[in-house]
Amino acid sequence: MTKNKFAPITGSVMPRFAGIATLMRLPLMGLDDADIGEVEIGLVGVPWDGGTTNRPGARHGPRQVRDLSTMIRNVNRASGINPFALCNCADLGDTPVNPADLMDSMGRIEAFFHRVCDANIAPLSIGGDHLVTLPIMRALAKNGPIGMVHFDAHTDTWDGYFGGFKYTHGTPFRRAVEEGLLDPKRTVQIGIRGALYNDAEDTWGQQQGIRVIDIDEFHRMGIDAVMAEARRVVGDGQTYVSFDVDALDPVYAPGTGTPEIGGLTTLEAQQMVRALRGLHLVGGDVVEVSPPFDPSGNTAMVAATMAFEILCVLADSLRSRSPRV
Ligand code: MN
Ligand code: MN
Repeated sequence: MTKNKFAPITGSVMPRFAGIATLMRLPLMGLDDADIGEVEIGLVGVPWDGGTTNRPGARHGPRQVRDLSTMIRNVNRASGINPFALCNCADLGDTPVNPADLMDSMGRIEAFFHRVCDANIAPLSIGGDHLVTLPIMRALAKNGPIGMVHFDAHTDTWDGYFGGFKYTHGTPFRRAVEEGLLDPKRTVQIGIRGALYNDAEDTWGQQQGIRVIDIDEFHRMGIDAVMAEARRVVGDGQTYVSFDVDALDPVYAPGTGTPEIGGLTTLEAQQMVRALRGLHLVGGDVVEVSPPFDPSGNTAMVAATMAFEILCVLADSLRSRSPRV
């Protein structure tokens, strides 16, 4: 058996603290590389927090997650999935951004993901604030609206901020529905909680048909019933997984811009992502890690591990749809 050039550098050869940090110790590749056509899943950093309305810092997320993701090993103990044996994975580096211009940044990010999708690479992205999911979806949903399993404390379906400005990390999924990228009837939001500006502000998504499972309903239902409901909602069509680390309780993920107490545990989140196995997954992201609020690095470690959980079900989904010849 020939050596797989897409295998992560093992910690039993090069210690995990040594060498250049790439996402999950994968090879770093550029979209212009000659062998980019062999990549099936691309891990991408989006170092941008221009959509942040409160505490910033998520622009530093990809670099910190790269560092902590060197902790990740190959095989998921719970599911037995080794995503690196199933699919060729690579770190595609960071997207271009313009930290001084929000609209220009969204264009640059979208252009990068068009190239990723045109190369038939499924993206697994590390944010960045949650607005980055909008340009990713613009590239991913070019053949019609996709479904989504969305873990978050917030619905991110507000209309506008600061006098009606439409593009912040609180608005991406309203825009995605309006632009025909996201099918609201195939969207489920899990972990929603926290106080509102007013009692009517958060109903738009439900009026569109989004299934909102707030944290109280989550606890009444239990994980198995929640995930059966999530699978029913998204069905067998193309589905994206978006994981905002503030879905987790701030005791697990304090390093984020908009923490809300009373959230998910890391184990609950892991078990829910594992329950996505068998869906038609086309990509995912982990967003809103803000290293300036994460002095221990724990939030970045949690985000790297959740990205690994998503990678496992994504790789399993890709491989089951197109078996290796
Ligand atoms: Mn969010
Ligand atoms: Mn959030």
